[in-house]
Amino acid sequence: MSGDLFNPSEEHLMIREMVKSFVEESVEPQALEFDRKEEFNLPLFRELGEMGLLGITVPEEFGGAGMDATAAAIIHEELSASDPGFALAYLAHSMLFVNNLAVNGSQQQKEKFLPAVCSGEAIGCMAMSEADAGTDVLGLSTNAIKNEDGDWVINGSKMWITNGCIDEDGTPADIVWVYAQTGKDDKGRKMLSTFLVEKGTKGYSVGQKIEDKTGMRASNTAELVFDNCIVPAENMVGEQGGALGHMMRNLELERLTLAAMAVGIARRSLEAMNKYAEEREAFGKRIRDFGQIQRHIGESWAEYRAMKVYLYHTASQMKLGESGNRLDSDGVKLFATTAAKNIADRAIQVMGGYGYVGEYVVERLWRDAKLLEIGGGTLESHQKNITKDLAKDPDAILR
Ligand SMILES: Cc1cc2nc3c(=O)[nH]c(=O)nc-3n(C[C@H](O)[C@H](O)[C@H](O)COP(=O)(O)OP(=O)(O)OC[C@H]3O[C@@H](n4cnc5c(N)ncnc54)[C@H](O)[C@@H]3O)c2cc1C
Repeated sequence: MSGDLFNPSEEHLMIREMVKSFVEESVEPQALEFDRKEEFNLPLFRELGEMGLLGITVPEEFGGAGMDATAAAIIHEELSASDPGFALAYLAHSMLFVNNLAVNGSQQQKEKFLPAVCSGEAIGCMAMSEADAGTDVLGLSTNAIKNEDGDWVINGSKMWITNGCIDEDGTPADIVWVYAQTGKDDKGRKMLSTFLVEKGTKGYSVGQKIEDKTGMRASNTAELVFDNCIVPAENMVGEQGGALGHMMRNLELERLTLAAMAVGIARRSLEAMNKYAEEREAFGKRIRDFGQIQRHIGESWAEYRAMKVYLYHTASQMKLGESGNRLDSDGVKLFATTAAKNIADRAIQVMGGYGYVGEYVVERLWRDAKLLEIGGGTLESHQKNITKDLAKDPDAILR
């Protein structure tokens, strides 16, 4: 197959090569250690800023690289092929915060906040989920009320926030993209609005770092607390009640890049099982000569290629800043995440006892892959969305 879909321009190819060598030299050597320690490698993360990767989709005037969804997919695939936890921290910062602001923020907000998050000086995150509301976004209860001075007072707490704290001392993210309720509209529907909350704002703190996750242990996950947290009016993004639009636009890129992480996991797992099947002998034969091993490798290859083509095709159709690709952003995430988990699982099976220990990498990939079926939308939410969208547009099946 031509490599054009995966690296459509010289620039894309250069980004892939650059990330690949960074991964080989700097990411791979620390991946197992940071998984074991359950720590986020902040100094290494800041190096991504020096390489110009943290603002990959941000216009150059704000310190970004001005690239597209395909470039974002390439970076996630390459980082995740080595260290999905580190890649998830990248996603939370660069897609969920930085891209969100670049697309939905005002000129003044972009000028104020984007340069520092693009360089890596400041770390960002996005806080949508709560302890009692995940898939059911409209069920969130964090609220913001305007005070006499025209500022917003936020109360509530957010759960599961990647990059919510950036170290072991509970230091909160430098800036958070927060979704909160701001009353009801004329028809009695909940209005959700978006706020930028900066570190140092009174009432904004880390509730807890969430420990003992199955996977993605090299990324920090935290509960964030907003206790009478007063945010100036200029830190509201867009209009009051405009958050659903922000969410919808950004979720598509989030799902695409989570699918890209799945492709990285699948690729690495397939590479590992293919190599091992060549080297390992049993009953006087290479194990790749056994039909049951061939089934693991053959099915993994077909699924890997299918997910990769679906990923890069969807990326090529995606326009940053516009929604309208939900069928495929949900479709590719639905397919690729479970396929990646299954391929990592087969890799463990092919590698026997060795596959089950950290040194051989695939057990970590398998643990990390599971999160992709939950975060950024559960499998069930993708099934629901796809079925809904196909009811509205049945001709999508024919296109
Ligand atoms: C490691 C990690 C990192 C995360 N990072 C972030 C982050 O940075 N920012 C952020 O905001 N959130 C983050 N999340 C939260 C994540 O997005 C949510 O966990 C996810 O959306 C699911 O929500 P929930 O856990 O509340 O599960 P629920 O929504 O309560 O779902 C529980 C089960 O019910 C099913 N279900 C719910 N509604 C329906 C329905 N209508 N039809 C059928 N089935 C349904 C779900 O599919 C699931 O199987 C993270 C989570 C984890 C674990």
